[in-house]
Amino acid sequence: MSSNLKDPVPHYINGEFVSSESGETFANISPYSNEVLNQVSQGMKEDINAAVLAAKTAFKKGEWGTLKLNERMKYINKIADLIDRDIEVVAQLESLDTGLPIAQTKKMVGRAADNFRFYAEMVKNRMSGEAYHVDDEFINYTMQKPVGVAGLITPWNAPFMLETWKVAPALATGNTVVLKPAEWSPLTAHKLSEIIHEAGLPQGVFNIVHGFGEEAGAALVAHSDVQLISFTGETKTGSEIMRNGADSLKRYSMELGGKSPIIVFEDCEFDRALDACVWGIFSFNGERCTANSRLFVQESISERFITALKERVQNIIVGDPSHAETEVGPLIHRDHYENVKRYLAIASEEGCEVYSGQVPEHLSNGNFVAPTLLLNVKNDMKVAQEEIFGPVLTVMTFKTEEEVIELANDVPYGLAGYVWTSDMKRGHRVAGAVEAGMLWVNSQNVRDLRIPFGGSKASGIGREGGHYAFEFYTEMKVVHVAVGDHHIQQFGKKNKA
Ligand code: NAD
Repeated sequence: MSSNLKDPVPHYINGEFVSSESGETFANISPYSNEVLNQVSQGMKEDINAAVLAAKTAFKKGEWGTLKLNERMKYINKIADLIDRDIEVVAQLESLDTGLPIAQTKKMVGRAADNFRFYAEMVKNRMSGEAYHVDDEFINYTMQKPVGVAGLITPWNAPFMLETWKVAPALATGNTVVLKPAEWSPLTAHKLSEIIHEAGLPQGVFNIVHGFGEEAGAALVAHSDVQLISFTGETKTGSEIMRNGADSLKRYSMELGGKSPIIVFEDCEFDRALDACVWGIFSFNGERCTANSRLFVQESISERFITALKERVQNIIVGDPSHAETEVGPLIHRDHYENVKRYLAIASEEGCEVYSGQVPEHLSNGNFVAPTLLLNVKNDMKVAQEEIFGPVLTVMTFKTEEEVIELANDVPYGLAGYVWTSDMKRGHRVAGAVEAGMLWVNSQNVRDLRIPFGGSKASGIGREGGHYAFEFYTEMKVVHVAVGDHHIQQFGKKNKA
């Protein structure tokens, strides 16, 4: 794998790879061995100030936002081409850094390139705005303009894809960017800065500052020259960001946590529902916002379904994330591992049966958690209400549709939901009734790039993807042009006497 892990990962500010002004670094730890992988520049307020100044200057100079669309899109497509060229390296770095199995990171990286191409195409079609009212007197039309300096703050799960999810529409629409990636997964963010540098974007258009949320992240949020914050991460961090950014009145996109139900009715296609349920919670190590972490299975088939689940859990291949056959790798960080383990202890205290698969003994240095089912769960238990964000599935049964809708909705989150039934009327009805931003009926979590992504309740504000991201990253202006001699109101022309 070609990547320099010897020198500290630098920031990328104003077209240059630089250390922190303080010279401070922090250690990036391997999820597989818990050994230090490399050092990372620790960004603070001064580094954020330098990056925001670079982005603001680049925006004001107008070399990016006012570039001819075709020219700007050449850069965006070039980034996509370079991602495609480097897919193997990015996928390997992502797996090394996060513990996500290599087979899964490869798929995600390919999608990142597609997303740049998607926005290159969309922006060409949408940036010109719309004519509204054309008659003898007036022409009214809209223009879509970039907003300014976009502050992007991203999490460690699927980091490369989630970063590019924001970077692609932000840049394509003409904004300049300061990205603060998650401190636990800096490697592919750095690779992205190398790719963007190679694509030759004008200085200052794209910047990355590494570091901790409370330092670099908080400084970006509080900065008065940052016009918008697009954030993906935990719900409580989202609230804090909105509080801290309130004084400078920004626009926000918030993609937050989830505790998504999968509802399996007795008339479902059993094997497909089982496959989807297993993949939906145990892929990406269970560290996935849209994971179907709460199973509700109809009583009449519950015994058979749970028996089949137990068998799968024992068969899942837990192992080295760099091996092609591995299905579940180590969790991102020791702190997160401890947190997931804490939930397993809570589950026992709350009276659940904890049914786990196996972690091979030679993996004991890593943050491995065996795929786990929590049985005999009640919906008001902590483990049924809080996001565990690991390979842990709570299992509950239900009798009727009304009952399961109530159970599914009795949770603070509202990100995603999955319904399995052969009765399409019921599928449609339940999808409408479950309080979540995204519902899949008889389907795994697949998403066309045109479709909005995001949640309701404590899972977020707004939507990413498709034209929703386009609107978030652009400012709509209306222009009123008089083309006739309409009556102009007059003041101060009367005689006061
Ligand atoms: P996190 O909230 O701890 O951190 C996310 C980012 O915010 C990191 O870059 C972090 O450094 C930064 N941050 C932390 N405190 C900050 C502060 N005070 N000011 C500014 N920035 C700050 O989340 P995480 O643990 O990295 O990610 C996991 C969470 O992300 C889960 O809850 C998961 O569900 C959620 N997630 C949601 C989606 C979605 O689309 N809805 C997608 C992926 C992950």
